[in-house]
Amino acid sequence: MKEYKEPRKPILYYYALSLLFIILLNTLVFPMFLKQTVQQVDYGTFMKMTEEKNVGLVNVASGEILFTDKDKTKTYKTGVLDDPGLTERLFEAGAEFSTEIVNPVANFLTSTLSWILPFLILFAIGRYASQKMMNKAGGGNSMTFGMGKSNAKVYVPSEEGIRFEDVAGEDEAKENLQEIVEYLHNPHKYSEIGASMPKGVLLVGPPGTGKTLLAKAVAGEANVPFFSISGSEFVEMFVGVGASKVRDLFKQAKEKAPCIVFIDEIDAIGKRRDTQFGGNDEREQTLNQLLTEMDGFEGNTGVIILAATNRPEALDPALLRPGRFDRRVPVELPDLKGREEILATHAKKIKLAEGVDLGAIARMAAGASGAELANIVNEAALHAVRHGKSKVEQGDFEESVEVVIAGYQKKNAILSDHEKKVVSYHEVGHALVAALQSHSAPVQKITIIPRTSGALGYTMQVEEQDKYLLSKEEIENKIATYTAGRAAEELIFGSITTGASNDIEQATKLARAMITRYGMDDDFGMVALETTTNQYLGGDSSLVCSSDTQKAIDERVVKIISEQHQKARAILSDNLGKLKEISEYLYEKETITGEEFMRILEERLEPIAK
Ligand code: ADP
Ligand code: MG
Ligand code: ZN
Repeated sequence: MKEYKEPRKPILYYYALSLLFIILLNTLVFPMFLKQTVQQVDYGTFMKMTEEKNVGLVNVASGEILFTDKDKTKTYKTGVLDDPGLTERLFEAGAEFSTEIVNPVANFLTSTLSWILPFLILFAIGRYASQKMMNKAGGGNSMTFGMGKSNAKVYVPSEEGIRFEDVAGEDEAKENLQEIVEYLHNPHKYSEIGASMPKGVLLVGPPGTGKTLLAKAVAGEANVPFFSISGSEFVEMFVGVGASKVRDLFKQAKEKAPCIVFIDEIDAIGKRRDTQFGGNDEREQTLNQLLTEMDGFEGNTGVIILAATNRPEALDPALLRPGRFDRRVPVELPDLKGREEILATHAKKIKLAEGVDLGAIARMAAGASGAELANIVNEAALHAVRHGKSKVEQGDFEESVEVVIAGYQKKNAILSDHEKKVVSYHEVGHALVAALQSHSAPVQKITIIPRTSGALGYTMQVEEQDKYLLSKEEIENKIATYTAGRAAEELIFGSITTGASNDIEQATKLARAMITRYGMDDDFGMVALETTTNQYLGGDSSLVCSSDTQKAIDERVVKIISEQHQKARAILSDNLGKLKEISEYLYEKETITGEEFMRILEERLEPIAK
């Protein structure tokens, strides 16, 4: 897939260069050929030169005589007098009669031609080239410095373009889009049955899941012109300009049908119209124009609109109705299999060592988007280079997952001995409570090496499988695990630190969601007390309940967390020996694996609480 840039600028350069070229041609090159500049002399000089046999070429034209000296280096000109016998005399003087001497008039003509002809030729070439480019670019704006011209990028298919096989996972989305490609290749198959293609397809999903990538793959597969524009490019300062850009885009598209128009981040123009803040005339006009244009062409014209957004709920309902965007294709975060496939796709570009287990990496990177996975692969390769390896090993991948989750290792963060101890006990507290409860993900790794994200250490738990459902017990156990770091500090040091701030945040979020979203509280039951907006962008939620209820919810949250905190404390104090043993081990080693942890834990297992 190749992108054709605006042809406007090259054309300007082309003309400037042409002009320079012509000037150079005329001042430097042509004079070498036409160096006989004609000198006007009187008739006497002519007669004298004839007598001295100093005339080379001569041309008696009407009204003037042109002649050169013997070596033909200089050209003279003089008027014609009634001079019988001139011809004989010239003949005797050995002059050659010739019409080849440049006539000043002719000279003038050639000099004019030498300016105009090259210019005409170059101009014609320029015109032709720009026409060509415009045709490829799918619409002419080469000569205008357009306001109101859509500056859509146009891709034409080429060999090295992105294909569907470059998009890993996302099988449902690919299937959906493949049908569209199929239609563009073979419209008769559909029109015979009477089926018409959707006019618009909306890709929705969280950032980095491959929406833009999918659209590019469609462009690579479809073999038709592909207009790509970002929604924000329509947004202009002047009212009406955005609308005219939309008009222009669709005009070009219709000329080039069958083709695909891709509007990325469509929420920039498609935002729900409201009058809350006095409205936004420019944006609304642009949106109205888009609505009109999408209505304006019939089902089977072969123009298909593809759009992507991660804020579908913010879009105007009019835009989403069937007939405009008939089809909504969810592009969700990849599952375990999808993650492994994405890792494999990107790992093709790097040199892998023998025995790298991408499945294990995919399990560690639960919840990562395609973009993050691509980043993990690249970070792993960078890590390998930094450590002088020629191939990327498992360890590089593990490190890079941690980099993406927790940031880089902080090389020069110096923790005091006591702090290091506190962090060790804190992390082992998490790990122990996680391991000693049922329904918890196994511990993969514990480390007390500080990270640039601010974490002084962390415990990595990795699920064997993706989890789609969480039971109430599992959530409670998670909360207990979050509180366990603090619980360990209390038990061992009798004092508490700021190290638990992130745990507190996570635990509170879970406890609140249990009540307000999952209906897991006995008193409130299955009542939604919260709505979520921006589900793909972190999910902001806002409470929808009376202030009395809010108060009750807060009390519940406190109760849930303190119950789990007590539970975690109980587990740890029942296993105090193990807590100390493993924490001291971690303090020495700084990083221990899940296996090491389990080995020490299972050596002499003390009775499990509960
Ligand atoms: P968005 O959904 O935000 O438009 P992009 O399509 O721009 O995300 O994805 C960003 C990058 O992440 C891509 O260029 C690609 O390298 C990687 N990526 C995302 N999803 C996938 C996927 N399913 N398969 C392969 N690579 C992916
Ligand atoms: Mg995108
Ligand atoms: Zn913690």
